[in-house]
Amino acid sequence: MELSKRVQAIKPSPTLAVTARAAKLKAEGKDIIGLGAGEPDFDTPQHIKDAAIAAINRGFTKYTAVGGTPSLKQAVITKFKRDNGLDYTAKQILVSCGGKQSFFNLALAVINPGDEVIIPAPYWVSYPVMVAISGAKPVIINGREENGFKITPDEFEDAITPATKAIVINSPSNPTGAAYLPEELKAIADMAVKKGVFIISDEIYEKLCYDNHPFISMASFSDEIKRQTIVLNGVSKTYSMTGWRIGYAAGPKELIKAMTNIQSQSTSNPTSISQKAAVEALNGPQDTVEEMRVEFDKRRKAMVNNLNAIKGIRCMLPPGSFYVFPNIAKLLKKRFNGKAINSSADLAEFLLEVAEVAVVPG
Ligand code: PLP
Repeated sequence: MELSKRVQAIKPSPTLAVTARAAKLKAEGKDIIGLGAGEPDFDTPQHIKDAAIAAINRGFTKYTAVGGTPSLKQAVITKFKRDNGLDYTAKQILVSCGGKQSFFNLALAVINPGDEVIIPAPYWVSYPVMVAISGAKPVIINGREENGFKITPDEFEDAITPATKAIVINSPSNPTGAAYLPEELKAIADMAVKKGVFIISDEIYEKLCYDNHPFISMASFSDEIKRQTIVLNGVSKTYSMTGWRIGYAAGPKELIKAMTNIQSQSTSNPTSISQKAAVEALNGPQDTVEEMRVEFDKRRKAMVNNLNAIKGIRCMLPPGSFYVFPNIAKLLKKRFNGKAINSSADLAEFLLEVAEVAVVPG
């Protein structure tokens, strides 16, 4: 059967491809160090697992409301108030099967073929693909290394056209670890309000900031920007719950309703058991969040120090998330062990084959 035109816009996630390749080599007995997946290696905290086990034992194993249980929506509302000073009502919240589905729902609910969505590079590999699936054009603008991979309001403004539907902001970022300062984010918010452009603010790495880098939600600067922003977040990274598949979105209620309709015809509700676990994650003790952050901080410093000690590699100390994005330009056009390294993909391949370290090219 002939495949759809739509599927031609879909490339498999390079991150998942690297992870799968590393898993295969591991199964063949190789001692691979996997740095591919954007996934904490900590176990999900015990009290969260216990909440899920209790949910199963109590028979909380049926369909729930499509957009999330009232208690999880309330936990999300409480989180936004507590952590971000933001007021939302239940009609402004949608719980999905991960932040990825939140973005996908949004792409299908608001973006039309012909629209443009501005995506700062380096970006999370799924953004442009999901935008392309919706039929719109991803407009990529490059964050400069010397500016910490951040985009200035002027650079955003230059990329705006009459077709611009939205700007994606991901701070702290996958894959650079870049994080905007509050005043930088506010300047972008002011520009977006002036131009009337919608912001998709992916705040999934909110809790992973280092060296006292302050986190502030894009929606919190004013009522105007809040009306023009959809905030995406989730429990995957903060609580080491990647496999549980719970993400959430907050924004204008008409938009949330449209996104909920899309979800109602695709996955329906996220897993009932995971939702109970997410309530415990958001409402329960938060000590493990800080414990993991402290550990990531140690690893971040060790990783960056060691990378910078390698001749030909330069790496920014990232203020957030758990990624590093080293500059490998000086290693290109060289040969190692008889192999030509002409791109980051060649280097990633070389590292996997020879050093047995799995990384994502970028
Ligand atoms: N947003 C960013 C920037 C990410 O890096 C990821 C995962 O890697 C997600 C969203 C989605 O995470 P999940 O679908 O597990 O909530």
